[in-house]
Amino acid sequence: MSEKFDVVVIGAGPAGYVCAIRAAQLGLKTACIDKWIDEKGKAKLGGTCLNVGCIPSKALLDSSHKFHEAHESFKTHGIAMDNLSINVPAMITRKDKVITQMNMGITGLFKANGVTSLLGSGKVMAGKQVEVTGMDGKTSLISAEHIVIATGSLPIEIPPTPLHKDIIVDSTGALEFQGVPKRLGVIGAGVIGLELGSVWARLGSEVVILEAMDTFLVAADQQIAKESAKIFKKQKLDIRLGARVVGSELKGKGKSKEVCVRYAGSDGAEQTITFDKLIVCVGRRPYTENLFTADAGINLDERGFIFVDDQCRTDVPGVYAIGDVVRGPMLAHKGSEEGVMVAELIAGKTAQVNYELVPSIIYTHPEVAWAGKTEEQVKASGEEYKVGTFPFAAIGRAVAASESDGMVKVIAHKETDRILGVHAVGPCAAELVQQGVISMEFHASAEDLALTMFGHPTFGEALHEAALAVDGHAIHMPNRKRK
Ligand code: FAD
Ligand code: NAD
Repeated sequence: MSEKFDVVVIGAGPAGYVCAIRAAQLGLKTACIDKWIDEKGKAKLGGTCLNVGCIPSKALLDSSHKFHEAHESFKTHGIAMDNLSINVPAMITRKDKVITQMNMGITGLFKANGVTSLLGSGKVMAGKQVEVTGMDGKTSLISAEHIVIATGSLPIEIPPTPLHKDIIVDSTGALEFQGVPKRLGVIGAGVIGLELGSVWARLGSEVVILEAMDTFLVAADQQIAKESAKIFKKQKLDIRLGARVVGSELKGKGKSKEVCVRYAGSDGAEQTITFDKLIVCVGRRPYTENLFTADAGINLDERGFIFVDDQCRTDVPGVYAIGDVVRGPMLAHKGSEEGVMVAELIAGKTAQVNYELVPSIIYTHPEVAWAGKTEEQVKASGEEYKVGTFPFAAIGRAVAASESDGMVKVIAHKETDRILGVHAVGPCAAELVQQGVISMEFHASAEDLALTMFGHPTFGEALHEAALAVDGHAIHMPNRKRK
């Protein structure tokens, strides 16, 4: 007889492990299967996010930011730094220690909450059975009242640039460079391209980012995207829009190996550029290989994601799917919220995710962040709206910190004054936009934010002033005349 659980979660990334913990908290007998192992064959819970995504990239962003500050900005504060150097292997080792610490945290949480952690590969069979293939290749069957698929995503590879050792790498390889490449190419000016491109640019690489689209950060509010592009240009990130990569050739031998990339510009003319390393980050695809049998009844949508409804139910009663493997933004917090929702639904509670308010953050310096609707989306919807913007250059705290690039933008409904979107590029943009998310979650008006007292001097005052500016009441800036 196979062991029976109330809930079996496949995948221990931020969607799966959060779902498993919440299910166990709700009194459900829960198992979570994951196949991620380290070089010693030890389970590494946390999925992409913890092992090769959010956390390691932020560790390197923080290390490289400190180096860059010491190199570029300390002198403006009167701090002299002579003989500054970067030890890349030490930086990578620190990143690995951060990951291990967090891996242990999830293992501890599973133990504390009574989640059974199974090491191996899970496959959904008909009749709500899950086949688990252990690392030794042996299989066993477990049965579940409810199954939650949370197998995440993998980097997309493109034919013109097949991965090659540590020369042409995906985002995972770009977290492992052991030295600073002199000439670094990046394909894709999306979130990963900007974040990892920034890491290596700060450490001294000449970075060229080739982006197929003609529009920069097409999902962002375009006023913020334009402001961000100006800032990145000042940081010497060479972002080439309308550049579609068509081929690549490896040249040279050993340490002098380089990659020659061919790309077509917007005018169709082909150009060639040579790099020491190339990062391919053109998006991710859902991870569904070998995940379910044909008779399991699970269907994919037209883009290859597991088909689910608004509450993450697949076509099979009792089988759910969450996180990157289903529609919606590929973000850790989106998957975690889905995980909590599904656990609550299984426990018989009412739950839903507010997909209108998923915050987006790009952890460059300064950060770019937004939530709610962009001005382009509001305009397209035909809603009447008003906008307040405020530059960090007029915020005392930002000037004191020499962090005065960027702005905050608040969009509100013209009649009801309800906040529709909050957008920012600048210091602490992610935290400020989070304040916007809380406001929007509580259906706040721009006036509600404007009437809220903000501490002085804080970066948050830019959000306050942008909310005031919605009705032309900003204090620390002349307001535009309104009709
Ligand atoms: P994953 O984290 O991919 O986890 C899936 C897990 O399922 C894995 O552990 C895998 O081993 C396991 N698995 C797969 N198939 C099976 C199977 N058949 N049996 C058993 N186990 C299986 N998002 C953010 O919100 N903020 C960020 O700052 C951020 N930074 C990122 C930086 C980088 C470089 C990358 C690559 C991604 C980043 N992301 C970020 C995206 C984020 O990592 C993903 O959205 C998130 O990890 C998705 O969570 P998930 O649980 O759905 O899947
Ligand atoms: P992305 O979708 O953000 O960006 C990929 C970019 O590559 C796009 O701008 C696309 O136009 C471009 N592109 C595609 N094919 C191309 C080609 N042949 N030549 C040139 N450009 C091409 O994807 P990503 O940056 O790989 O990130 C993957 C996922 O990981 C995203 O969904 C993102 O949400 C998530 N992520 C999030 C964070 C964060 O929240 N801070 C950080 C990293 C990754």
